[in-house]
Amino acid sequence: MAFAGQTTVIQRILERRAERPAEVHEGTTATVAVMLRVLPPPKALLACHDPAVRAQLMRRIAPDVFEVEPVASDEEALRQFAAEYRPVVITDSLELIRQLRARKTARNPFVLYVAELDEGAEREAGLHAGADECLGRRAPEREVDARVANARRIAELEAVLRITLEENRKLSATDDLTRVASRRFFGKHFPREVERAARYQRALSLVLCDIDFFKKINDTLGHGCGDDILRQFGARLQEALRRGVDWVARIGGEEFAVVVPETAYEPALEVARKLRAAIAGSPFRHEGRDVGVTASFGMCGLDCVPSGERELAGRVLKIADAALYRSKQAGRNRVTATRYNGTAG
Ligand code: GH3
Ligand code: MG
Ligand code: MG
Repeated sequence: MAFAGQTTVIQRILERRAERPAEVHEGTTATVAVMLRVLPPPKALLACHDPAVRAQLMRRIAPDVFEVEPVASDEEALRQFAAEYRPVVITDSLELIRQLRARKTARNPFVLYVAELDEGAEREAGLHAGADECLGRRAPEREVDARVANARRIAELEAVLRITLEENRKLSATDDLTRVASRRFFGKHFPREVERAARYQRALSLVLCDIDFFKKINDTLGHGCGDDILRQFGARLQEALRRGVDWVARIGGEEFAVVVPETAYEPALEVARKLRAAIAGSPFRHEGRDVGVTASFGMCGLDCVPSGERELAGRVLKIADAALYRSKQAGRNRVTATRYNGTAG
């Protein structure tokens, strides 16, 4: 080091941190332990040309370590892999490793290469082809166990990370893509809005909308364009609404809910019409091109939210959904509204 003897700020921070005992969140550790215990053993594709190696590894790998699926050829391995992702692949084929690594997908399995000879050059060839670990076919059993255990640990880590990220996403109050409220938030807070309106005998309306022929946008312009349209769609809805009062949630793939508090049937119908026009009135833009988008709307308006009605939020949602369905049936890009009269739905 050029400045031996001198310490940088970062070094000092790291040293100070090292002195402090690490904070261990017992709860987190326990949660991960539970997740690992209840997860089924990860799947491992055992793609070895040599039947003797295949049989030996089948015997060696306990079923509670991996659910091993043996295949005899690269083609079969690739076919199986394309049909269902496996977190671990154990193989004696460099070609298979190259082909697996050449796939243009985000998820990459842990690859354990079983080399013919247990020597440096072969290991290097395996790593060069894209293997994570190498194992000589005549390696002692303890080494086999250790390398297989490594593969298992990586597979487990990936599984836990995926589950955690997915759960985080579900728990989130905002939708990642569009930044409007999430489905979960809607499920929790729309009933609260209804209860609040009922308590004070106020008006409340709910507008649902669903993008028309969205599948076609995805199919013709690509999923990336579809995502971009969804983002813009959420933003357009929000821009057309009263800030801080009305709120938008993404409650399905291309389905949104707009909660319009303190707003009776007639004025809410105006809001819904304004929203429809905000979407259909001018084309969306994606990568410099115009993309025409329309949406169908269904509304349920309550001039005065009654108190003491059980499951009212659910009923309002159903009524708005039925209205949306009628908009679709009648040709899309329109608003259908129902005034809640206590018996409808
Ligand atoms: P309709 O007018 O009857 O509503 O037709 P549609 O094509 O909009 O409805 P459909 O339910 O057939 O298709 C909805 C499509 O939305 C299918 C699904 O792939 C797509 N989708 C759902 N979520 C997302 C997403 O997050 N991003 C993208 N790009 N597409 C999504
Ligand atoms: Mg749709
Ligand atoms: Mg839909």
